[in-house]
Amino acid sequence: MSRPVADRVDRFVDESLRPLRVAASTPVTITAWPVPGEPVPFAQARGSDFRPFPVGEQWGTPWSTVWLHVTGTVPDDWAVTDHHRVELLVDLGFDDQWPGFQAEALAFRPDGSIVKGISPRNAWVPIVGDHVDLYLELAANPTIPPESHWRSTHLGDGPQPESAPLYTLRRLEIGLVDVRVEQLSHDIEVLVDLMKELPETTPRAARIGAHLTAMLDAIDPDDVLGSVDRARALLAPALDAPAHASAHTVIATGHAHIDSAWLWPIRETIRKCARTFSNVLDLLDRHPDLRFACSSAQQLAWMQEHYPEIFARIERQVRAGRFVPVGGQWVEPDTNLPGSEATARQLVVGKRWFLETFGVETTEVWLPDTFGYSASLPQLVRLAGADWFMTQKISWNQTNRMPHHTFWWEGIDGTRVFTHFPPIETYNAELSPAELAHAERTYTDHSTGSVSLAPFGWGDGGGGPTREMVERAHRQADLEGSPRVELGSPRDFYDRARDENASLPVWTGEMYLELHRGTLTSQLKTKQGNRRTERLLHEAELWAATAALRRGSPYPAELLRRAWRQTLLLQFHDILPGSSIAWVHREAEAAFAALADELEQSISASLAALTGEGVRLLTANSAPLTLDGVAAGAVGVEPAPSAATRVSATPEGGWLLSNGRVRVVVDANGLIVALSGPTGRNAIPEGARAGLLRLHPDHPDRWDAWDIDVHYRARAVDLDHADTITAFVSDDGVGVVSATRSAGATSVTQTLRLGPDAAGVDVDLSVDWHERHRLLRMYVPLEIHAEHTRAEIQFGHVTRPTHTNTSWDEARFEVVAQRWMHVAESDYGVSIANDSTYGHSVERSVAPNGSVVTTVGLSVLRAPTFPDPHADQGYHELRFRIRPDATLTDAAEDGHRLDRAQRVVTGAHEVPSLVSCSNDGVRITAVKLAEDDSGDLIVRLHEASGGRQSTRVTFTVPLVTIDEVDLLERPLEGALHHEGADAVELTLRPFQILTLRCRPA
Ligand SMILES: [Zn+2]
Repeated sequence: MSRPVADRVDRFVDESLRPLRVAASTPVTITAWPVPGEPVPFAQARGSDFRPFPVGEQWGTPWSTVWLHVTGTVPDDWAVTDHHRVELLVDLGFDDQWPGFQAEALAFRPDGSIVKGISPRNAWVPIVGDHVDLYLELAANPTIPPESHWRSTHLGDGPQPESAPLYTLRRLEIGLVDVRVEQLSHDIEVLVDLMKELPETTPRAARIGAHLTAMLDAIDPDDVLGSVDRARALLAPALDAPAHASAHTVIATGHAHIDSAWLWPIRETIRKCARTFSNVLDLLDRHPDLRFACSSAQQLAWMQEHYPEIFARIERQVRAGRFVPVGGQWVEPDTNLPGSEATARQLVVGKRWFLETFGVETTEVWLPDTFGYSASLPQLVRLAGADWFMTQKISWNQTNRMPHHTFWWEGIDGTRVFTHFPPIETYNAELSPAELAHAERTYTDHSTGSVSLAPFGWGDGGGGPTREMVERAHRQADLEGSPRVELGSPRDFYDRARDENASLPVWTGEMYLELHRGTLTSQLKTKQGNRRTERLLHEAELWAATAALRRGSPYPAELLRRAWRQTLLLQFHDILPGSSIAWVHREAEAAFAALADELEQSISASLAALTGEGVRLLTANSAPLTLDGVAAGAVGVEPAPSAATRVSATPEGGWLLSNGRVRVVVDANGLIVALSGPTGRNAIPEGARAGLLRLHPDHPDRWDAWDIDVHYRARAVDLDHADTITAFVSDDGVGVVSATRSAGATSVTQTLRLGPDAAGVDVDLSVDWHERHRLLRMYVPLEIHAEHTRAEIQFGHVTRPTHTNTSWDEARFEVVAQRWMHVAESDYGVSIANDSTYGHSVERSVAPNGSVVTTVGLSVLRAPTFPDPHADQGYHELRFRIRPDATLTDAAEDGHRLDRAQRVVTGAHEVPSLVSCSNDGVRITAVKLAEDDSGDLIVRLHEASGGRQSTRVTFTVPLVTIDEVDLLERPLEGALHHEGADAVELTLRPFQILTLRCRPA
């Protein structure tokens, strides 16, 4: 019954109504200036050489910019009434798909002030007065459709000035828009779409159908325009019918999820933000009930720097409570790959920026699109002074549905944070009846709650929320058959949801995304740059703070602020995960290299100030644990190595490496067949080989750079043959077995190294990688009956079962570990540390002798071809360390060693630690001066074992006060306060993070 009505309405709208929307139009005069190279500011463009440019002309090679100067006059004979609008109507050559992923423009007035953006679904500019004089900055962004997932393209490599133009200017004219026609179109759209969502048998569906039929019957085909008012009157009763008493409520908040870089470079993100935010400002002026939620301090900082006029208008709307900063992070980062301090700093730097710039304390963490959520986050969210967390990405799970939309999320330390998954399951909602019906149907918590959040608006460019979306919201505010829709802010949602949910269900531990598992591995060089930079930032702060307090050296606050902001930007959820175009990764690697230079200089200067001029060889240990006799955070002398490692041939044609502590038996092909530590227990199962490299096919079903799908396991080529192999003892006494291997176009040098005093064997890989759609993995089978593995995450570790008893366990076939993974049974463990690998698998099998074998697989390299067709091609170096008889502390120690926490310097004297812990289980993760430039010392520490620990924290400089503070270094109520002491006794619960603010004497 409803179908024929819907068809009849569709044809009426398409054929009779839509053509009436623009009552009249008149041409404009257009001149153009193509920018020769990268974008330029308005002032430079304005004075350039503009040439005539007619409608119908082609424009825009990939990534280029063309400025148009548009002038014209509104005709005198137009009868502009209060049901008309005069607008500039624009079609830059748009296609119907993907509004954020194609050409866009920004409209300027001749004085350089900005009117609004122009996007495929927001393709108009208001005209005030009778005269038009506008400059349009056209961005020829090529369409790299994200839904192609795997279709290789070079469009992401960078500007291509030799290519053909991508777009044709199809329309640019002054139009007279009939608002009554528009309003009727909105009425019809909402009713037809709502009718389609309702079961045909419901009275409501039938009545909507009847109203639509009556409306169509009442239209005079010879005078449609004259019938519009009557048509609206006939539909009014259907739109006035109130929502059911039990209808769900959706708080709709304007939003624009703009990736900080992805299928475009960072410079384009800045322009996307300008276009989107200027649209939002225009829309806020038109609709007083609209609120817009904006995350990512970085994006607003870009406006402050590059578009001060937009920024000033944003600032006014922030103060009015309508442009609402949310999230409190610098960008929306990945949460699996960034280390402890970086994860804390996203919040510190982001929240401080919002506070300092707007005086606004953001109250939530807003990560709608990030690829899975670390179990460290709840504690960090709360310690940053936020009280709730929002994402919708887990709705992308391939296998399991999360059981709730509104719940407590409990982290590794036991902290719980209120969490909401918007059941509309998108961050780009259009507020269509279909989406709203989906939200109501999907929401799992109707028995306890009645409200959910819906972020709406085009993201990634495309212009954010539109006036059409607001019209839909208004019509569905209180509409029978629909959830109620209220325009509001995220905080409006939270306050309501928190009030009505007295007791909420709890989700404990990580929120693993059952998708995008390849992002733990793709674009190794970007990941290595990040790992190196995080360590250098830690070192730079530690040594600079030590030098400032001990020697009075100036603290490089400005350098560190800039370096952190840059690093935090590069941890954005499409950059560090490796899912961006080549251009983005090229820039990320260059940025990391530049940061490394600056930070190295700063570290050298601080250490030189600390150690004085001299020629003694000293080791600076920046790890939070004593390494090789040098205390954490101290500069000292490493003991001389003991006798060299012995390397001897075995009867089987291999070698035995032994240093008196560790024995490694290597076969003739350079693979480990036995490995034991001081207890003598062999970690490797009989007949198995550790360090085995395997090349798997890696053709994800959909998202190329993003996904590793489980079927990679179906096939593999083993690189178990050594083309060449040598064994020797190096000059520094290290026992070495080095094998070269090849497969296809790829060659690998795999080197096992056992140092004279090493507690584990290093596996070094040099890979000349020229595969496509292959996954290189290294396997370490262990004769350990492990029920769980422990993997490092931020400020602790996460424990995961090794079995696949449930669909949830089975889906975790590729998991993150940061610097180490630890596999243990009751009294015996082995750790595997890495210097730049994150993707791990754990498989459980039973050996012929009945022993359970736990095999750890490490994802070394991938070779996806979308969106970067050359991802990961070329030369790479990686290091691993396998340590038998390893405790959790040993695992962490190796993680820091491979992280290159030890640095050899020459100087005159040793330097004691500025601050130290008496207990290995409590680690100092950051030593720095306060963000407020007060000169206070900030020390962040955490409980690392997963147990309860007491420790004495001792300072070697005189202090006036020691206070426990939050992540933002603000006093915490009822927290520890000490006066005039140089030490403090602390007891920490498992994985507790604690920040101390210390005022030097
Ligand atoms: Zn995103």
